[in-house]
Amino acid sequence: MGENTIDRARYDFKKAMQEITNYKGRGTELISVYIPSTKLISDVTAYLRDEQSQASNIKSKATMKNVTGAIDSIMARLKTYKTAPPNGLVIFCGEVPRAGDQTKMVQYTLEPPEAITAFLYRCDSAFFTEPLDSMLLDKKYYGLITIDRKEATIGMLSGSRISVLKHFDSLVPSKHHQGGQSSVRFERLIEIAAHEFFKKVADNATTVFLPDIMDLQGIIIGGPGATKDFFVKEDYLHHELRKKVVSPLFDTGYTDESGLKELVDAAQGALVDMQLTVEKEYMQRLFREIRKTDGGLSAYGEAEVRAAAEVGAVDMFLISESLKKYHVSVECPNGHKHIMTVDDPEGKIECPECGQIVKVLESEDLVDNFFELADSYNAKMQLISGDSEEGDMLLKAFGGIAALLRYRVA
Ligand SMILES: [Zn+2]
Repeated sequence: MGENTIDRARYDFKKAMQEITNYKGRGTELISVYIPSTKLISDVTAYLRDEQSQASNIKSKATMKNVTGAIDSIMARLKTYKTAPPNGLVIFCGEVPRAGDQTKMVQYTLEPPEAITAFLYRCDSAFFTEPLDSMLLDKKYYGLITIDRKEATIGMLSGSRISVLKHFDSLVPSKHHQGGQSSVRFERLIEIAAHEFFKKVADNATTVFLPDIMDLQGIIIGGPGATKDFFVKEDYLHHELRKKVVSPLFDTGYTDESGLKELVDAAQGALVDMQLTVEKEYMQRLFREIRKTDGGLSAYGEAEVRAAAEVGAVDMFLISESLKKYHVSVECPNGHKHIMTVDDPEGKIECPECGQIVKVLESEDLVDNFFELADSYNAKMQLISGDSEEGDMLLKAFGGIAALLRYRVA
């Protein structure tokens, strides 16, 4: 699979999961079926037929109708499979409320990114998604530690998300508080307190990082002074963690949560594999191009980017993952046909020519549409998460759509 294909599969899975978890049924009528690759499709169909006959006992007529309807729909879907795919198959199906008193049938068929291990059938008022939740996470992560004698913070960088795991204030007295002549004994007390503080930080790092050592890509350590070097050199860390310390250590102004952010910024060069860094680099390249007086090799905004794509000038699309829009083809009662981008394909859309409410003929997620554009014009596709400052700027300033160009258009 090409890079774009994998990214698109990941995007589609994530988006489907967001939608699925938001649905609530009117009654106990939303069906989730998990089928591992080893399960025979014929066995699943037999199981569903049995559930179907039991559904006739459901007291509420409406619920009974919805449950049997959903099971029918799942069985029809299963007819298109001879066997379950390598990672298995998950089907969510049911009647969900729409505006007013309306309902609509939704069905999602997912091939999960990791293998399903057990067959499972659930009928509930919400879809059962727990087995898939952990598959959404990028499990690889970096450990983060900022430390000086007063304070330390342990955190992690996962994908582009920085989270604080532990924060410590030390009780180590400052050497200067003694007003010059501190006794040897006082000096020693200070050093004992510092030693205990470093040990505590290291022990907590062990508790937090050692269980997931397989996914730990490295530990990035920073702080304002020489304490961080001392902390590493004196082997406070567990030897398995010590091996993962990224060299060099990094200077930061702070040792609290903002220190973690500084640390990730400072360590950028060392984090080539991490998505945040990759995204940041492309966005900064975009900003550099935009700042050039002729606009450089950049395009932004949907119309401009599409125009550049259609003449084959796009090298890489930079598309915000938080873009919640749809590419639709519509027709109004006067026969005007248009292709346009809208927020809600099920809402009232006016014809740009006559203002009448149009009928949506086709609708596609806008990000998926750009993945297709990237394929047709042999361009790369880079999704930009909303978590970084750059990602936020892409969404707010450029409508979530920009591109790096191979050559200037016009
Ligand atoms: Zn019209």
